Amino acid sequence: MDADYDVLVIGGGPGGSCAAAYCRQKNYRTLVVEKCAFPRFRIGESMLPTSNAILREIGAWPKIEAAGFIPKYGALFYVSHGEEEKEVDFRHSLIPGLESTYQVERAKFDAILLDHARSLGAEVRMQTAVRAIESKGNASRVELEDTAGTSTVTARWVLDASGRDNFFVTDQKRALDAPTSVRRMAVYSHFHGVARPPGRRAGHTIVVRLEDGWFWIIPIDEQRTSVGLVTTLAAMRRANVEPAEFFRQAVEGSPRLRELMQGSAPMMEFRVMSDYTYFRRELARERVLLVGDAAGFFDPIFSSGVYMSLWSAQLAAGLIARADETGRALTAAERRGYTRAIKRHAGVFRRLIAMFYNNTSFAVFMCQEVPWDLMPGLTSIVAGHAKLTWALWWRFNLFLLICRLQHWLRLAPPLAFRPPLPAKAV
Ligand SMILES: Cc1cc2nc3c(=O)[nH]c(=O)nc-3n(C[C@H](O)[C@H](O)[C@H](O)COP(=O)(O)OP(=O)(O)OC[C@H]3O[C@@H](n4cnc5c(N)ncnc54)[C@H](O)[C@@H]3O)c2cc1C
Repeated sequence: MDADYDVLVIGGGPGGSCAAAYCRQKNYRTLVVEKCAFPRFRIGESMLPTSNAILREIGAWPKIEAAGFIPKYGALFYVSHGEEEKEVDFRHSLIPGLESTYQVERAKFDAILLDHARSLGAEVRMQTAVRAIESKGNASRVELEDTAGTSTVTARWVLDASGRDNFFVTDQKRALDAPTSVRRMAVYSHFHGVARPPGRRAGHTIVVRLEDGWFWIIPIDEQRTSVGLVTTLAAMRRANVEPAEFFRQAVEGSPRLRELMQGSAPMMEFRVMSDYTYFRRELARERVLLVGDAAGFFDPIFSSGVYMSLWSAQLAAGLIARADETGRALTAAERRGYTRAIKRHAGVFRRLIAMFYNNTSFAVFMCQEVPWDLMPGLTSIVAGHAKLTWALWWRFNLFLLICRLQHWLRLAPPLAFRPPLPAKAV
């Protein structure tokens, strides 16, 4: 079959736009199909410095730099009732070139990337949803639906970057990996009037750790700050109140958050997202690859989502080009290799995430002095360098070993997740 397009990309989020840009660089006839009208709201505003190089490679970086986003040089970690403060400053990363990135308003960021793909020659159809895909020999027949009705196109390759909505996979009932964590949810809004630290810390992501959850505070422009609470579904059910009230009570219950949120007010309705942790078992078929959230997502704590979408887009586009050199579909080994590569990369973040949610391990992370020069290695990983070179590998594993030892040896002081107990009367 002579296909209409070389590549059809489902979804115009960062993963889809980036994949489309790479495909255009290889001169593929590329169609991006996006079901929403842009700009549209998306959560996920904190970037990682490792995304910069990918955005440079596709030529979008100057547009991001010119957009007026808030520079991000690191992150600050606090504990709900304690005085502890831990700064991760990207300048101190072991791997050079990861000094900064941006906090972005996603509606604007995603629109810039999609426009960029368009400027490279990708055809973009907005408010058009993919409804069905059928494999036909060396191409796929794809059914589209827009405001005018349904139509069909054919493409030699399909990149499913449809995010959590996960069009293709849901359609094909593809299996998920076994869950690796408890079920969590996020309650969030944009606020004005949230206090910011002075100087270069003003653009830091602030994380406030509660006993069984945490808050993010991400400045997204001069006025607006994204603030979200992550908690467990079980805690929310136990509380038996509306999510916005749960959020308010959590702020009230924490001296650190009360201080940071004093005088602030929400600028939009609270939004809720639950059960966002999943990973598809297989991420590639002969002529279809899953990119970004369509493949899987673990947790927002280390802001890895957008980076993983860009990185998987880069990998998927490269794989298509290699297969095309000899005019074939993906081999079984390539499909397995793609799945493994993405899961290995995401697995580094998963281990970091598991450390964060463990109160004992997190006490080690919060130490001012982490021994043996481990912190620069950890800083690189927090900056998104999930490719573990030997220098990063041994530091990361030694750090995680110390976290495990902390359970028995109490190497780091415990953290103040609760108010101090009242002094006993004598
Ligand atoms: C609470 C929370 C906080 C987060 N915070 C961060 C953060 O600070 N930093 C970070 O990097 N990540 C964060 N993330 C993750 C981040 O939001 C995602 O990883 C990122 O948006 C994934 O990009 P994507 O391009 O894969 O998918 P998306 O951004 O979801 O884009 C997918 C696109 O596909 C379109 N689409 C869906 N189905 C169809 C269809 N059938 N036809 C056509 N189009 C379709 C959708 O409309 C959408 O525009 C967070 C996630 C959560 C849940």
